[in-house]
Amino acid sequence: MENLEAKAGDRKVLEDAVKTEEAQYAVDKSEKEAAIETVKAAVSALKQKRAGTIGDITSSIYQTYERVLKNRNGIGTVKVADRMCLGCHQMIPPQLYYQVRTSDDIFQCPHCDRYLYHVPEEGEENS
Ligand SMILES: [Zn+2]
Repeated sequence: MENLEAKAGDRKVLEDAVKTEEAQYAVDKSEKEAAIETVKAAVSALKQKRAGTIGDITSSIYQTYERVLKNRNGIGTVKVADRMCLGCHQMIPPQLYYQVRTSDDIFQCPHCDRYLYHVPEEGEENS
């Protein structure tokens, strides 16, 4: 009989623990769902922005970009620094490096075909 009462007490403790866990699960679930909705809204906004940007790009450049993106693991544009393409880590010709840094034209890496961009380092002149 005493053993039965002890078991009933254990059961009550376990049921309370289950209720606490379930309540915490519900809170966690609603937080995660809210986070998912936030991310979905951000993705949707970025897709809209991307569609607008694509409309501004010359069709042949965009087609080349899509091809490079597919062939280069989803990376179609890369930074160039110290004459090195940071996509394939190969040196680009000095003339091309100069053009990437000084021109508004669009250039591709001669090795991996990715589009190149340059961000001047602090204190670096853009020429
Ligand atoms: Zn490259």
